[in-house]
Amino acid sequence: MTQLPKNGNNKGLRVLLIEDAPSDAEIEIAELRNGGFDVAADVVATGDQVRGHLGKTSYDVILADYSLPNFRGMDTLDILREKSLNTPLILVTGALSSETAVECVKQGAVDYVMKDNLARLVLCVRRALEDTRLRQERARGQEQLAHKVEELARSNCDLEQFAYVASHDLQEPLRMVAAYTQLLAERYRGKLDTTADRYIGYAVEGATRMQALLEDLLAFSRIGRNGVIPTPIDTDTAIEEVLRNLAFTLKEHNVTVTRNPLPTILADRFQVVQLFQNLIGNAIKFHSKQAPKVTISAEKQGEEWLFSVFDNGIGIAVEHKEFIFKIFQRLHTRAEYPGNGVGLAICKKIVEHNGGRIWVDSELGHGSNFRFTFPAALADRAGKKEDYELSAENLVSG
Ligand code: ADP
Repeated sequence: MTQLPKNGNNKGLRVLLIEDAPSDAEIEIAELRNGGFDVAADVVATGDQVRGHLGKTSYDVILADYSLPNFRGMDTLDILREKSLNTPLILVTGALSSETAVECVKQGAVDYVMKDNLARLVLCVRRALEDTRLRQERARGQEQLAHKVEELARSNCDLEQFAYVASHDLQEPLRMVAAYTQLLAERYRGKLDTTADRYIGYAVEGATRMQALLEDLLAFSRIGRNGVIPTPIDTDTAIEEVLRNLAFTLKEHNVTVTRNPLPTILADRFQVVQLFQNLIGNAIKFHSKQAPKVTISAEKQGEEWLFSVFDNGIGIAVEHKEFIFKIFQRLHTRAEYPGNGVGLAICKKIVEHNGGRIWVDSELGHGSNFRFTFPAALADRAGKKEDYELSAENLVSG
């Protein structure tokens, strides 16, 4: 019994046969039937007929004679392109030099079969059908992927929009709640009973906390919204600004900040300051028993700068290395360390928004090394400056 083709063509093989010799057409159809195909063929011999049939019928394969009295089989490729069709075309020809045959394949025919060796026809057709199937599957896969990416981008955008609107619009009513509970606390403290004082205290605390959370959420959702144009930022001067902002804390905790010469990167200045301020602020907040030491460095690796903000603080357990970059996730209670768990999420968003990556190398009790990359956009300035050390002492006095 003859075997059906693998691609399940028991539905039938629709063939457009471009052939002027009826006997040749019959032999080709017979060959395909012998090979297991249930063939439905239209036989044509002129350009108009080819155009007409391709316009109204969909074919699985086209078998074209190379040269007919009124048409060149290869011209079918132009008609296919014109109609945006991908139907595979196999040349079936009496005489063709191997150079011409190769040229035809280069131009877009999927294969060629000599009429005196028609035994190859079935194999060629199967291969062409299989190629078409794979091509269609790949195109479908790519289409689905593009659709998913589009959907994801849209839902991300919706979420960001929601976070922005929610945090922005909730601020105003919350400001009223906070103001009036504070007023209640000031006016009525000691005038009602102690339970009332306690309840008012909770309300004030809750409202204040919620304001802080909303402010952080707003700061988080603002990153990348205002379409700032990146400009060359000297990270050294950005860090000087951070150290000025943190001057009081640096002095209070007797912090030493050391840095190597740092590069100029293409970014938004406010974001770069925010990034370093969050990392240096955390390095101080999560200090160990020793006086905090923070070392900032950068090295060029291929097309990017690899920055490091290294501290001698309490460190982070390996299993929490990714968790801490998620928004509102923290490893400690607020009684142990103040904070809302937004700082590192902001750092991650800033770095990723600029085309980089951020991660931490750390072990509990052995300090933390926060590392992130930035695309190297400008000439390397490292090496032109002296290493220097800024201690809390001389920073505040200077
Ligand atoms: P927050 O500081 O408000 O808690 P972050 O997003 O900045 O929020 O940090 C998340 C958590 O990551 C912190 O609660 C802390 O547990 C951990 N963490 C961040 N930086 C450090 C650090 N330098 N050393 C040790 N732990 C850190």
